[in-house]
Amino acid sequence: MRWSRYFIPTLKEDPSEAEVISHKLLLRAGMIRKLTSGIYTYLPTGWKSLQKISTIVRQEMNRFNGIEMLMPAVQPGDLWIESQRWEAYGRELLRFQDRHNRDYCIGPTHEEVITDLIRREIKSYRHLPVNLYQIQTKFRDEIRPRFGLMRGREFIMKDAYSFDVDDAGASRSYEEMRKAYISIFEKLGLKFRAVEADSGAIGGSFSHEFMVLADTGEDTIATCNDCDFAANLEKAEVKCHGDDCAECALPAEKIATPGLHTVDEVADFLKVPAGKVIKTMLYKADGRSIAALVRGDRELNEIKLKNILNAQNLEMARQADIESWTGARVGFAGPVGLNVDRIVADLELQFDTDWVTGANETDAHLKHVDLRRDAQIGGYFDLRIITEKDPCPRCEGNIYLTKGIEVGHIFKLGTKYSQAMKATYLDEGGKEKLIVMGCYGIGVSRILAACIEQNHDQNGIIFTPAIAPFEAVVIALNYKDEQVGKEADNVYEKLKTMGVDVLLDDRDERPGFKFKDVDLIGSPIQIVIGGKGIKNGIFEVKIRHSGQRFEIPMDNFDDEFASIRKDVHAHFGL
Ligand code: ATP
Ligand code: MG
Repeated sequence: MRWSRYFIPTLKEDPSEAEVISHKLLLRAGMIRKLTSGIYTYLPTGWKSLQKISTIVRQEMNRFNGIEMLMPAVQPGDLWIESQRWEAYGRELLRFQDRHNRDYCIGPTHEEVITDLIRREIKSYRHLPVNLYQIQTKFRDEIRPRFGLMRGREFIMKDAYSFDVDDAGASRSYEEMRKAYISIFEKLGLKFRAVEADSGAIGGSFSHEFMVLADTGEDTIATCNDCDFAANLEKAEVKCHGDDCAECALPAEKIATPGLHTVDEVADFLKVPAGKVIKTMLYKADGRSIAALVRGDRELNEIKLKNILNAQNLEMARQADIESWTGARVGFAGPVGLNVDRIVADLELQFDTDWVTGANETDAHLKHVDLRRDAQIGGYFDLRIITEKDPCPRCEGNIYLTKGIEVGHIFKLGTKYSQAMKATYLDEGGKEKLIVMGCYGIGVSRILAACIEQNHDQNGIIFTPAIAPFEAVVIALNYKDEQVGKEADNVYEKLKTMGVDVLLDDRDERPGFKFKDVDLIGSPIQIVIGGKGIKNGIFEVKIRHSGQRFEIPMDNFDDEFASIRKDVHAHFGL
């Protein structure tokens, strides 16, 4: 491609609309443009990178027995009513009606459509297992579309669905996809981790997320230093041991704590550690009033709470509810005499006593509280967020926390959809059984953003060779100069025959201007061709990720370039 005939509308300034680096650089490098909130046009280099990502996804999916197809984006509401997600999916589902007033939605995911297909087409165990996938545009009316391609409303996803005769088969399909995903992210040249994850609204029993490691990631990953445990913070189990303790020797006693609301204020005032104060958090779970207790120096994990309560909807209680359940102003709730449907407590609260809690009375707390003696606890559960001070739940090793961007998610669904939509097959004995499913997503467009979050510097993008729209750029310093033009064309043609996806910067611009643009668009290798170099028989090569520059002799260009290219690939594990 010749830059003079190509379309890369780069920007010199940071666009004000962009908050995160990938969004800024995707706009500045001329890869995307916003049409409207959360909806982007992929410009030629953006689209080129997305196609490279898709190609790798396709290759690996095919290698691990995936079969590509394409389903419609528009889906009938009836199927969603059948699967019971028409209501449950909430406002992220973009709904509309056709001219006959029939309900439709734009697919945010395709479990309904594919289960409908399979229940019609597959009748016998002989036709299972099967794993079908597509690469397609999805629409989710995200409450906060932001960060460019990271959380769009319209975005590109690879979604795959596996169908098996039984749970063991579904586990094999799941494992196959886990391997395919590892291979995909390795081939993309990204630093990533597969982590245990919560299965969330899609449902099912078991899932892993694939996280691209980046300090700017929205997700936190808990990883063990010693074993291979890694989990999303939302999911990471906290192990807790202890011995039964004796009943608190002193009776619970009310003390005045005027205006003291926070754990630290109360702990300071009573001269006890924050870990001896119990935090009482109040929620509404599907209409029921719930209190969740954790130690004052711990954080409650709302996802764990939601799962334990088996709730569709969990929200923090409003002020009026809190005041009616506690009989006090906000800030003085406690488990003793609390008027709620259920109180659940974190596991470690059962191994100690003599707590400080709110007194359910304005400006008062209780001390010497013994939960077994003084309160009605409806169960002790793992309720808190893991920290770096906690031991690994598997091996007791050290936990450390890192940031990641979720780019893929695999679920073992079980029979959730086959049951709701009656997708069955006949087994060897002619008996009708439910098909066991899995589903597997990759955020193709989010990968592009995640790659940039992981690899950039103050001058622009640093693409991995697998994702770069152009692996190399030939910069002709003065293309109009006959000799420079001729050599630049030469190198450009040569690289093409070597299978390098190359861009020739033949624009009539100053060298400084070109260098800035080339750094910005992030090609891994730059080859600079100028009159002075030619006189000395050399070209200059610059490695984007390290900033290293080499002078390579023109007459040994092929070998030298091949060796530099190999090193660059190796840097990205390719
Ligand atoms: P998130 O928690 O980020 O909202 P999700 O759990 O809703 O993600 P899935 O339903 O598992 O996501 O979708 C599969 C993949 O699609 C995700 O791993 C992610 O990479 C991508 N994805 C999901 N939502 C978006 C979005 N709004 N914009 C871009 N990519 C997305
Ligand atoms: Mg989501």
